[in-house]
Amino acid sequence: MKFGMVDKFGRRIDYLRVSVTDRCNLRCIYCKLDDFTLLEREEILTLEETAHIIKLASELGIRKVRITGGEPLIRKNIIHLIQMIGNISSINDIAITTNGTLLPEFAKELFTAGIKRVNISLDTLKRERFKEITKQDKLNNVLDGIKTVLRLGFEPVKINVVVIKGLNEDEILDFAELTKRKPLVVRFIEHMPIKEPHSYFSLGCIKEKLMTIGELTPVSTLKGNGPAFYMKYKNAKGAIGIIAPMSEGFCNDCNRLRLTADGRLFPCLMSEKFVDLKGPIRSGGTDREIKHLIKDAILLKPLSPIDSNGSRIIKKPMASIGG
Ligand code: SAM
Repeated sequence: MKFGMVDKFGRRIDYLRVSVTDRCNLRCIYCKLDDFTLLEREEILTLEETAHIIKLASELGIRKVRITGGEPLIRKNIIHLIQMIGNISSINDIAITTNGTLLPEFAKELFTAGIKRVNISLDTLKRERFKEITKQDKLNNVLDGIKTVLRLGFEPVKINVVVIKGLNEDEILDFAELTKRKPLVVRFIEHMPIKEPHSYFSLGCIKEKLMTIGELTPVSTLKGNGPAFYMKYKNAKGAIGIIAPMSEGFCNDCNRLRLTADGRLFPCLMSEKFVDLKGPIRSGGTDREIKHLIKDAILLKPLSPIDSNGSRIIKKPMASIGG
């Protein structure tokens, strides 16, 4: 293995997703947050501990960090964490994934602190349906948040739409139309099963719908750090991405590790194996020891997370692992 950052299968690992809280101000039905026990306050890494882990990971080759959650913008002093990450010279890309409800309040500070790329999760453009999915009446806050980040010059602004069979597939074209008028990258994500298998609205069905309102051509310039592939309609201001964890999987190019709010480093979204960093940090582990543990997590990365039953199922809350 080369200097810690190439895994057993030759994949270069340079991307760390950091869940800063397992709390959320929404209760999305598919996230199933209420089925899991929330962390006690003292179990959660302090912002300084989180920044320290990111610094050590950067010394091993991590270059990109995405802040996620739970809802990252409800974590107290989140801007301070972003500033600390911004001071780590070898991290050259900091982004955030948020439900957008608090963006009207935080967007400017995020921008000033160095975040220019934002992913906003939004599964419906209908107020009543938003309430049904999230148990909160906050669609207008999210829409204001999107307007705010566009006005401030965040780029790209990506909208993540989890397509849920029987719930919002009828809005795929409304979201797609948005990309014709606005410089938004709308990404359709296949719904992943949490705890138990389910049937999902597949990549093939999503594409079929998209083709009914125009021809789509691939956009190679938009390839980000992740598993999406991108396309756009002729003369559209924005673009469309599809993320197909179920029908295609995205393991071959996986470049990431995931740090949970309680300091567990997961090698994979679906993996049950992890390396605990909080215990060793709080009991005085040296930087060298912690870096060794980060390398151990990389060695745990599976080639593909399909379990012995041949299925892909997430066994922990998305809010802890960060989606
Ligand atoms: N609160 C932030 C947000 O809403 O973006 C960050 C955390 S959220 C868990 C991250 C992403 O995971 C969201 O885009 C959400 O839609 C997605 N997600 C949650 N459960 C999912 C599931 N079962 N299948 C696919 N995506 C899921």
